[in-house]
Amino acid sequence: MSVLVYVENAEGKFKKSIFEAVSYAKAIATQLNTNLTAISIGNVGASELENLGKYGATKVLNVSNEKLKSFVNQAYASVIAEAAKKEDANIIVVSNSFSGKGLVARIGVKLDAAVISGAIELPNTDGGKFTIKRTAFSNKAFATVDVTAQTKVISLTPNSYKVVEDGQSASIEDFAPTTKDSDFTTIIKDIVRATDKVSLPDAELVVSAGRGLKGPENWGMVEELANLLGAATACSKPVSDADWRPHSEHVGQTGIAISPNLYIAIGISGAIQHLAGVSSSKVIVVINKDPEAPFFKVADYGIVGDAFEVVPKLIAAVKSLKA
Ligand code: FAD
Repeated sequence: MSVLVYVENAEGKFKKSIFEAVSYAKAIATQLNTNLTAISIGNVGASELENLGKYGATKVLNVSNEKLKSFVNQAYASVIAEAAKKEDANIIVVSNSFSGKGLVARIGVKLDAAVISGAIELPNTDGGKFTIKRTAFSNKAFATVDVTAQTKVISLTPNSYKVVEDGQSASIEDFAPTTKDSDFTTIIKDIVRATDKVSLPDAELVVSAGRGLKGPENWGMVEELANLLGAATACSKPVSDADWRPHSEHVGQTGIAISPNLYIAIGISGAIQHLAGVSSSKVIVVINKDPEAPFFKVADYGIVGDAFEVVPKLIAAVKSLKA
């Protein structure tokens, strides 16, 4: 019995959400008095892998197979399931990222395991039970579930568990999984960046705007603020429906669900369907001229004011900090 954590990389680097997943998996391993192994797939440098020890992984299985260089859901799920069997792992943790969400179900089927997606707390393992809290209905509710299956696959909601640094360097072990042709029904031939901008699903900072901006011609200040902060841009549904912005920027219940460290919402009312996709952001800043806008109820910081006055002042302030 042990714990396995999948450490997804972004162009050879690990993001904060992965350190959260490793810290979380380590805490479960400690609760159950067992070891934590990490599995990395793709080209990641040795120092980056060793560094995972700092967050509690004692060993990292490193898969650097050329066919697995790019993310393919079926194939990655097979590799992780194989690693779980090899390590005798009965708890598998992944981050609830864009790809993590798709992986957990497949890993669950392969290991005949219970799948707990969107976990937000450590499990309670008192008395041999396994009770865990997760989000439900697009973050509008929480469910506390008793899991009786022997093997559990958990995806951790980003920003719900703190990064803990108290370990040493991890050892690296090369792992050559048995890949099957049937796992490669999708073949990634090339990855072309549509834009040089920060990708929204993985962004740590997001500047988002809604119908309060009146029209697409006013997005210059949103882009400028986002560029200065190194943030991705997002929008509400009516904005992408009206073609003011591309659909890939639409966040919410019917768009992308994100959990950045900072979400700045400009001229967005805060409808429940919008909040469903952004409410697990760590810090929410709302700029709205209506003090009664529902978004203020979930904001950490609120600015009541006209976006066309507030945003240029914010831009000037960030510029002066950078100068
Ligand atoms: P509005 O509701 O029009 O709000 C504009 C806000 O801007 C207001 O609060 C106003 O006070 C403020 N404002 C106006 N002028 C200024 C100014 N000069 N300065 C500052 N503030 C200003 N919506 C989503 O976003 N994502 C979804 O995934 C989504 N899914 C949906 C699914 C279903 C089934 C349904 C029925 C709806 C869904 N919606 C979704 C739509 C949602 O209900 C809201 O209609 C939408 O989020 C409102 O967008 P908005 O806040 O940009 O616009």
